[in-house]
Amino acid sequence: MPRRRIAVIGAGAAGSMAAIFAASAGADTVLLERTRDGGRKILISGGGRCNILPSRVDETRFVTDSSPHTLRNILRTWPLAEQIAFFEHELGLRLVEELETAKLFPASNRARDVRDGLLALAARRGARLLMETRVTGFSPAGAGWRVEREGAAPLEADAVVVATGGLSVPNTGSDGRGLALLAALGHTVHPTYAALTPLTAEPAPFGALAGVSLPVTITAHDEDDGAARVRVRWTALEAADWEEALRPEGTRTVAGALRRELPVRLADALAEAAGVPGARPLAQLRKAERQRLIETLVQGELAWTGDEGYRKAEVTGGGVSLAEIDPRTMESRRRPGLFICGEVLDAFGPIGGYNFLWAWATGRAAGLGCSRTRVGASGRP
Ligand SMILES: Cc1cc2nc3c(=O)[nH]c(=O)nc-3n(C[C@H](O)[C@H](O)[C@H](O)COP(=O)(O)OP(=O)(O)OC[C@H]3O[C@@H](n4cnc5c(N)ncnc54)[C@H](O)[C@@H]3O)c2cc1C
Repeated sequence: MPRRRIAVIGAGAAGSMAAIFAASAGADTVLLERTRDGGRKILISGGGRCNILPSRVDETRFVTDSSPHTLRNILRTWPLAEQIAFFEHELGLRLVEELETAKLFPASNRARDVRDGLLALAARRGARLLMETRVTGFSPAGAGWRVEREGAAPLEADAVVVATGGLSVPNTGSDGRGLALLAALGHTVHPTYAALTPLTAEPAPFGALAGVSLPVTITAHDEDDGAARVRVRWTALEAADWEEALRPEGTRTVAGALRRELPVRLADALAEAAGVPGARPLAQLRKAERQRLIETLVQGELAWTGDEGYRKAEVTGGGVSLAEIDPRTMESRRRPGLFICGEVLDAFGPIGGYNFLWAWATGRAAGLGCSRTRVGASGRP
């Protein structure tokens, strides 16, 4: 029987994984990538160290406009422990946990080892890598698919895996074209937006504090009309703890009490934001001032006016509706022989390795799914 011909479009995280599993299952696999080397988001991930996975997963932290139940079913096709085993044993990358953040990194701390390792494994398993190949379209043709390439003849395939990524950081190669092509084929694409992108403030009330870093607790509440309000608890102390910490003690001043818990520059800026002179002795603090100060420290509003958009976004929110995907194989329910994986789908997770977890799981499921020969009603392939 002839081998099933698979075209995987996009050699990022999801596409590399799809190619590995399709080729390992015996399919005649070609991996098409528009950049010179592929996997550029892997290279810049985790500050160049690649936070490859979380060390534990809270599935409720994923965001989707589709069904969270479907999202969970997809994730569970490749549990975290098996993903870790894959990277350690198949790719030979020892993973190390950063305990305070529950993130896993390659022991080498080199994102390049992850990217190069994945592409090398795909090639070893028999996939052909076609770099600097931009796919301009794909459409059903006969019993299979035709894949159009810029400046080269179209390819024929029995199945296509779309792993072209979202719209974030377009200079890594993903520009949203894949989403447009999937929409043109009849897929529902939930409105896309830049996610995990820095917020900006104009004017910047804390601009002078650049370089100060500390762990804080941030809460954002969606407002019915208008932008979400962001509130910050600047330390681990709650209101009652601050009441205690601001109790008059000798000649201690407001600044003195705040500086015990906060970096000096931030302590002074927060006193100013609350409208309380830092030099004021705690014994002379008025009730209203004390309240304002505590409110600022425990739930101070962080004004923001915009965000950095796709230029800096770690992921794209929205994307192809999960309702139109078979969660076991990632095959389109609208177009047989079309498989979809990675960021192009309507799901993203928080920072911490969750987005690679999604890319690896969906890439593997698509790679396995597309390499299976469908059996028709007659029982024959
Ligand atoms: C700065 C930054 C840091 C990040 N750090 C982390 C991290 O530490 N941990 C984590 O879990 N996630 C991280 N992420 C998110 C993570 O990188 C993405 O979620 C993940 O790479 C998505 O994988 P993907 O394969 O779906 O898409 P991509 O990795 O974007 O890959 C898509 C590929 O398709 C190619 N392509 C697109 N269109 C075409 C076309 N028409 N023809 C041919 N090829 C095409 C692109 O060139 C690209 O190589 C980070 C993202 C950014 C931007």
